[in-house]
Amino acid sequence: MTDTARTNLLDLDRAGLETFFSAHGEKPFRATQLMKWVYGHGVADFAAMTNISKALQTRLQQLAEIRLPEVAADSLSDDGSRKWLFRLADGNCIETVFIPEADRGTLCVSSQVGCALNCSFCSTAQQGFNRNLTSGEIIAQLWMAAHLLGQRGEGERIISNVVMMGMGEPLLNYDNVVRAMRLMLDDFGYGLSKRRITLSTAGVVPMIRQLREDCDVSLAVSLHAPNDALRNELVPLNRKYPIRELLDTCREYVGEGRRRVTFEYVMLAGVNDSDQHARELVQCLSGVPAKINLIPFNPFPQTRYLRSSNNRIHRFFEILNQAGIVTITRKTRGDDIDAACGQLAGQFQDRTRRRERSQSANKVSPV
Ligand code: SAH
Repeated sequence: MTDTARTNLLDLDRAGLETFFSAHGEKPFRATQLMKWVYGHGVADFAAMTNISKALQTRLQQLAEIRLPEVAADSLSDDGSRKWLFRLADGNCIETVFIPEADRGTLCVSSQVGCALNCSFCSTAQQGFNRNLTSGEIIAQLWMAAHLLGQRGEGERIISNVVMMGMGEPLLNYDNVVRAMRLMLDDFGYGLSKRRITLSTAGVVPMIRQLREDCDVSLAVSLHAPNDALRNELVPLNRKYPIRELLDTCREYVGEGRRRVTFEYVMLAGVNDSDQHARELVQCLSGVPAKINLIPFNPFPQTRYLRSSNNRIHRFFEILNQAGIVTITRKTRGDDIDAACGQLAGQFQDRTRRRERSQSANKVSPV
């Protein structure tokens, strides 16, 4: 049993830690001292924090904890990517993926246990939803990955980039996600620049506006369709925030600078991958500072979709490219360990009973 009376210090950003220490009669500088140990050196044991007095170490052991998940599974893909299943204090499990590349190491972080949205092509959606992650559970994914990858403190950066693209819709767990991202950005946290953190959303318009004010990291938007009729089917949230409104908000997000929004577009055979769809997409994005990531669909059990052929993806790519839109086709990584986009499933109790409902209706029902 976890002692919930103790404060999980991973739930506090720098300002929160300062308040915590002040409330216990300590100087606010203790906050950065503690952060250096926890995030810089990967130390979670108060007794090992040698520049903190024995008396304060003992008080911290009574009042606080660094609550980390257990490793429930650890799988390594042939391509070097690695997926962990982390078991949280309440028994729910979430997935986190590390993707090494020549010039970077990207950690794909989850924001919720399951997902409340119901995108028809996503495996997490099929699993249903349980709850939001706390900010401590979000930042603990970085701590655990750094630890398990053997990252040492003092400037070593095995994890150079973070993408909020794991399980869940980050903008529907806004406060906790922003607090965790502040720790990723903090010089005494993980010291990442805003360019190196990307938040991916299905398009929660008011929260994109809010994010611009609070923590304007790089933005990725799961577009997947060039018109509302099709997008309503694939991303039911579109009924609430249709494409035009979403794209206007994206334009505001990046403003006049040189930044662009990344639009993710999953390639589903015979659904959204024709030449006509590509041309419509070009039109739809005109005037929006955009990059496009084409993601070959990653299948999962009981899906009704198929991945577009390589030729089709190539042709689609060419149309976008010729129209002058920076486009990349995302390499599928870790599909042998079910770690690719949209394959993260975790292990948790589905409070929405979505799977049951969709099986009895024998189709995936919209929100
Ligand atoms: N809720 C956020 C974060 C999920 S990110 C969002 O919608 O953006 C995961 C990315 O993988 C999203 O772009 C999502 O649309 C995409 N994705 C989901 N299922 C997929 C699948 N089966 N194959 C390929 N990409 C998928």
